[in-house]
Amino acid sequence: MNKKVQVVVIGGGATGTGVLRDLALRGIDCLLVEQNDLATGTSGRFHGLLHSGARYVVKDLNSGKECIEENKILKEIAPSCIEDTGGMFIAAKEDDPGYITKWLEGCKAAGISTKEISPADLKDQEPALTTEVKKAYLVPDAAVDGFTLAAANVLSAKKLGAQAKTYTRVTGFKIENNRVKGVFIKEKYTGQEEYVECAYVINAAGAWAGQVAEHAGQKLNISPDKGVLVIFNHRITSRVLNRLRPPGDGDIFVPHGSVTVFGTTSRSTNSPDDTEATRQEVLDLLEQGSQLIPDLREMRLIRAFAGVRPLYQPDGTAAGRGATRDFTLINHEELTGLEGLISLVGGKLTTYRLMAKAAVDHVANKLDVDKPCITHREQIYAPIVRQESSHENRLCQCEMVTKEMLDKAVADKEKFTLSDVRRLTRLGMGPCQGTFCTFRAAGYYHESRGIDVTEANKLLKDHIQERWKGSRPVLWGGQAQEAELTRGIYLGLLNLERLDSDENDL
Ligand SMILES: Cc1cc2nc3c(=O)[nH]c(=O)nc-3n(C[C@H](O)[C@H](O)[C@H](O)COP(=O)(O)OP(=O)(O)OC[C@H]3O[C@@H](n4cnc5c(N)ncnc54)[C@H](O)[C@@H]3O)c2cc1C
Repeated sequence: MNKKVQVVVIGGGATGTGVLRDLALRGIDCLLVEQNDLATGTSGRFHGLLHSGARYVVKDLNSGKECIEENKILKEIAPSCIEDTGGMFIAAKEDDPGYITKWLEGCKAAGISTKEISPADLKDQEPALTTEVKKAYLVPDAAVDGFTLAAANVLSAKKLGAQAKTYTRVTGFKIENNRVKGVFIKEKYTGQEEYVECAYVINAAGAWAGQVAEHAGQKLNISPDKGVLVIFNHRITSRVLNRLRPPGDGDIFVPHGSVTVFGTTSRSTNSPDDTEATRQEVLDLLEQGSQLIPDLREMRLIRAFAGVRPLYQPDGTAAGRGATRDFTLINHEELTGLEGLISLVGGKLTTYRLMAKAAVDHVANKLDVDKPCITHREQIYAPIVRQESSHENRLCQCEMVTKEMLDKAVADKEKFTLSDVRRLTRLGMGPCQGTFCTFRAAGYYHESRGIDVTEANKLLKDHIQERWKGSRPVLWGGQAQEAELTRGIYLGLLNLERLDSDENDL
């Protein structure tokens, strides 16, 4: 790693990785530092909806316009990260008909196409929906995979010479004469500490941006806002489903791979690390969702989790659903006189490229680089391409993950966990939640990478433990049965609790 770069980017979510790619495309020497794996913050704990903007047009027309522009660009440049499912907005019997008129006007003003669909045609195409639909419209929403997107941004930037260090945390800043001179970083696995000199730092640490800014003696009012999401074991609808009413709890369903992500809520929290969902939060969501999908409570939930929105809240502005979903570029030089640091907060994953452009325009100007932004027309490299595969070559049947995908996911890694592999391949993300693929993957890496038994056992244990965390709040009905099966296999057959001391092969 070079100990001196022009720009250090803090945070490996959509925003930070988007910034890295933009910097690299303008020929600026840059390093990204992420404390965990890529997209382990909010960019991996969200709905996965590539907004058309229709959700925002009544309250915030500008956000609606930004979303539709970015939606079109991302579908062009990042097709490997997006499934163009299309979306629909449904007004249920409880919803205010007055809102529909305002919404249609907003969509028109923002340039978002809407097409009315008759309840009969809709029922034909989406049989799980309630029959009591007042009005239904098709919009250009899509599903986006935050894990793949972050990895794809980094891969594209690396091909241009950029560097990225994961599992490495920024622990402090060096400041001289009110100017940032560099950052101190610490690697998680080795504990090694280093200093990186730079001309500029871009703080893209999302909900943690306030904590990062504090290392530089800066105060940023980030108000962490928690949203709970649940996952069902199948695709309930073929398109993204939104409720046609002012944004509220439990009004979006997004199909992803073989499952559906449903949510969300909006509650202030004290910590960006507050990512556990409670059983009551799950039950409240189901209550709302069953107004659109009447059989929702009978469907099998496989996990629940939460993400934290990095809402920027300068003094006196609204919190929660009232807070703006727009992004803010904070120039610390203007705020306190500190040169060489900007923070990029708020926004949506859908608008990450636009956020990155704003930050890099600012920094390029400071560095006297006059190359314009070209991220809107350059294709993003796909980290892993999903291909047709034979049954025996698949280690994860739910999400069709092959041995080649597993090889590719760790090709440039010395040390990894099965969760790192999962984020890149969807291993264990399907209905069985790792019951059958975890031991296969650990065994496969034991053979193909020559990792020893203790290490392979650790991969296995950690992954089962990680999957278990998310299924705990939804343990009833079908999922309780699945958990018993997992327990039987891992504790009964594999004696998981004693695996570490077991010298036998897996
Ligand atoms: C429940 C929920 C649902 C959402 N749904 C959608 C949706 O459907 N569509 C949409 O467009 N948007 C959605 N959003 C918003 C969107 O997810 C976020 O705006 C976006 O992911 C934020 O990305 P980010 O890169 O700014 O932050 P993050 O993804 O959180 O990245 C910040 C990174 O910084 C790292 N970091 C922190 N401190 C340090 C440090 N000291 N050193 C190194 N690294 C550090 C963190 O580990 C983290 O990975 C949703 C948000 C929530 C909470």
